[in-house]
Amino acid sequence: MLYNVEGIVIRTVAYGETHAVVTLLTPAGTLGAMARGAKKPQSRLAAGIQFCAQGIYTVYQGRGMGNLQQVEITRSRRGLREHLDKAAYAAYFCELAASASETYPQGSESLFTQFSALLDRLEEGRDDPEVLARMWEAKILYMLGAAPDWLHCAACGAPFGTRTNGGAVADATTSGTAMDGRVVVSGTAPRPAALGYSPFHGGLVCPRCRDMPAAPRPDGTPNAPPSPGILPVPAALPRILHQFTHVPWNRLGTVQLSPPTRRALDHVLRLQLREFAGVSPRSREFLDGLSSLEAEGERLARCERDENSP
Ligand SMILES: [Zn+2]
Repeated sequence: MLYNVEGIVIRTVAYGETHAVVTLLTPAGTLGAMARGAKKPQSRLAAGIQFCAQGIYTVYQGRGMGNLQQVEITRSRRGLREHLDKAAYAAYFCELAASASETYPQGSESLFTQFSALLDRLEEGRDDPEVLARMWEAKILYMLGAAPDWLHCAACGAPFGTRTNGGAVADATTSGTAMDGRVVVSGTAPRPAALGYSPFHGGLVCPRCRDMPAAPRPDGTPNAPPSPGILPVPAALPRILHQFTHVPWNRLGTVQLSPPTRRALDHVLRLQLREFAGVSPRSREFLDGLSSLEAEGERLARCERDENSP
């Protein structure tokens, strides 16, 4: 049986000298296919098995794994493979997408559409890739059913006092809707840090629950207050996480986040993904390595400037 399917290459593994096995993310889930001879120079399949390429794939399905017959590329996404940091982010986004996708044909069209839009934005380079990463993590958590209701305390259910309106937040001091109708996210306004993230509850907790002594242990001995392991987070976090989860890419405008908000988002989403969705991609470690290299580079450059200044 021969069929056409739209797909994005999320992984390519060499098979023997000249063949490759590609994993495609399609609107109907992930699909593996053998690309015979694709590693040979001049192969007409070569361009279509490049990482993050998108196109219409013609697959011959016999018994076992399908054979890739032909590719008509619609987006090459070469820009994602030419820069180390973009390639590292793309690899991480692919791994997250794969973790949330069912296998063909049980997949979700929404995952495919959002993933394709995300890769386009990463390639365009107008957004901070770190912000794209946090947004993608929030969306993946939601698709995996591991996202809490970020606007309510995960312990007592009390609302955090943010009013939302169709994805646009009506909190004029810290965010709003831009003139063109796009949602503007900002976490830079100074606010008291009274909320917390509780790995035990798997969500954000209100000031009262944050400072409350944890429930006694099973043997009846009390836990030391406040509840152990609660991470203090900025007060803007519920609204930002809610928007990251629900605002589609095409409605996303400028996103400005302060360093403490960035750190809190990083910790909360990483913990939530690992503990409640069982997702801790290896490509994330590579990204972490890159950003610590970057920080070290900046530190050295600062030292050099200081030494050279009179
Ligand atoms: Zn509470």
